[in-house]
Amino acid sequence: MLERHELLDRVRSYDPYADEGVLGRAYDFSMEAHGSQRRASGAPYFSHPVEVADILTRYRLDTASIATALLHDTVEDTVATILQIRELFGSEIARLVDGVTKLSELELRSNASGQAENFRKLLLAISEDVRVLLVKLADRLHNMRTLHHVPLAEKRSRIARETMDIYAPLAGGIGIQEIKEELEDLAFRELHPQACESVSSRLDFLRQQAGDIVERISGEIDTLLADAAFDAVVSGRVKRPVSIWRKMQRKDIPFERLTDIIAFRVVVASVDDCYRVLGKIHSEYRVIHGEFDDYISTPKKNGYQSLHTAVIGPGLHRIEIQIRTTEMDRIAEFGVAAHWLYKHGAALTEGRHYHWVRKLIDLLESSGSSDELLEDTRLELYPDQVFCFTPKGDIIGLPQGATSVDFAYAVHSEVGDRCVGVRINGKMMPLRTPLANGDQIEVLTSPDGTPSPTWERWAVTGKARARIRRHARSIQRDEFIRLGRALLDRVYRVSTGEPFDSVGAEVLARFGVEDTEALVEAVGRGDVPAQDVVETAVPPELLGGGAPAPDAGDGDDGTRRRGVNAIPIRNLTPGMAVHYADCCDPMPGEEIVGALIPGRGISIHTRDCETLVNLAEMPERWVDVAWDLGPSVRVKHRGRIDLVVTNRPGTLSEITALIAQQDGNISNLKITGRSREFFRLLIDFEIESPQRASEVVAALRTSPAVSSVNLAAD
Ligand code: MN
Repeated sequence: MLERHELLDRVRSYDPYADEGVLGRAYDFSMEAHGSQRRASGAPYFSHPVEVADILTRYRLDTASIATALLHDTVEDTVATILQIRELFGSEIARLVDGVTKLSELELRSNASGQAENFRKLLLAISEDVRVLLVKLADRLHNMRTLHHVPLAEKRSRIARETMDIYAPLAGGIGIQEIKEELEDLAFRELHPQACESVSSRLDFLRQQAGDIVERISGEIDTLLADAAFDAVVSGRVKRPVSIWRKMQRKDIPFERLTDIIAFRVVVASVDDCYRVLGKIHSEYRVIHGEFDDYISTPKKNGYQSLHTAVIGPGLHRIEIQIRTTEMDRIAEFGVAAHWLYKHGAALTEGRHYHWVRKLIDLLESSGSSDELLEDTRLELYPDQVFCFTPKGDIIGLPQGATSVDFAYAVHSEVGDRCVGVRINGKMMPLRTPLANGDQIEVLTSPDGTPSPTWERWAVTGKARARIRRHARSIQRDEFIRLGRALLDRVYRVSTGEPFDSVGAEVLARFGVEDTEALVEAVGRGDVPAQDVVETAVPPELLGGGAPAPDAGDGDDGTRRRGVNAIPIRNLTPGMAVHYADCCDPMPGEEIVGALIPGRGISIHTRDCETLVNLAEMPERWVDVAWDLGPSVRVKHRGRIDLVVTNRPGTLSEITALIAQQDGNISNLKITGRSREFFRLLIDFEIESPQRASEVVAALRTSPAVSSVNLAAD
């Protein structure tokens, strides 16, 4: 483990502007926070963040990244908080530490290995700053290096699988080949110990047989190029056990000669030299067809550039050769990090991490040809998607802007239909809340739940919208039928003394409908006046035997006699067969009247609404409707107060609290006027007796927020 001054020296060696104060404090803070904690190996826990920081110095990362590496486990594993980190180290480092902590939490939550692909996208999507990913990868790399200390085999293989499925491809995706390969090797050793062992011993055997064949061949190529006056560095290496194993699995072939699995690399100064070296090699050795790839003119998605070819080389061995420049070679090792390091230096410029991110996105978005390497790094950025978890840890991907409604329908149509509420990260939230990456969503359902038509406005996925619309249509039809039946019952009782039942085929034909239900629906819609039905269906001699008509005017004498046949509107859904008129905004308890609007059903107005004048000439359109507020209300006294209060935060809660203290139960509240300083309210409330209603008024007068209050005339 590096001492404090050793780490500082190392960072300063590549970044003279490194903030040693911050690094030193991060070192001390982490050491103190981890205290006497130990790793599975028995080493002090603090050695882990220091090793992670050390790995990152190889990539010449900036002060914030190194400090983040030192602090990365303090929030998750010690009593330190992100607020403390922000106070001590500033918002940039706090944001990075928070990002790494979040990734670790996700790791714990996601247990579905089949979701590796989604999970990788999720990791990318939520790490807005690529430095978060780099710290996470270094963290994983050190944990893999020390994996053998973990005593539980099950845990070891879970971590190794995750590394193989998620972290190694992620490292490849941002082009850090070196970390990708080491992660794969370590995971392979854990997951397939026998395979690893047999590939390795086969390699040893071939090496013995072939002698120093790698050195001999690279020496020969080196001489060839030197004679042609190229300044080139030639190296050769045997492929790694894990890639040999993959190739064997994929192509179903054993490897017989060492040359099957050797790759040579020629590194030169310029792009021009790359093509000239290629020409030299192709003129000297026989080219194997179909093996040539030009990743210089068309780089891979992760930024990798090189010429690939295969020839029958020295000693008639079949060999693969990669040709690239020094800079391309660094990019092949360091990926995204190399772009920043070598093109732009370690200069601390404003907004440098934006540069990183832009670079990353450019790299991932620039098209590249599909090839072996990309086969297992099908990595793409999905900035237009959010990924959320079910409580079990399954991941669901949705378009950006999606809400819980979309999530519920994505889980299952039935879950959407029966959804009554949602808990996001453990908290009850409105269904319309837009989802964020990494949210855990628990959909609450009820067997009686049914989609509300208003959900359509909150849903962005086609599946949810179609399903909600379909439901809305069928509910609307049900409601038109219920309303139509109520309307028909009413005129039938008035005209014949009997409720409406059904009509004969002849009557149906007259109205051009198939069955009674269709006729009832047409009445509910307002397309067919109920009066027409009764006049068509009932012989004239039977008409006029019913109760006196409780018409909409309720008598001209001003009495408030509610019609016994008034249609209760409690069970009708606003926006379906019943609409509350915008002009007067009726509230429960107010005197109301309904107007049948063809094609829409009933529109509800207050009895004194001026719009009703327009309907004065069409009494057949008027419908007697009544609020159906349920039985509990009837036993109590209902009061209404008209008050003017000061317009400031908290006023409303103060007033409602005062009413509640007097045992008043607010049934409705309406703001009737608003100015900069005051607003005017109408509050309906239920209370024991008229006497108690006056006490409510008295209590309200004691509040300084109340400017005037009056009990409205009943
Ligand atoms: Mn860690």
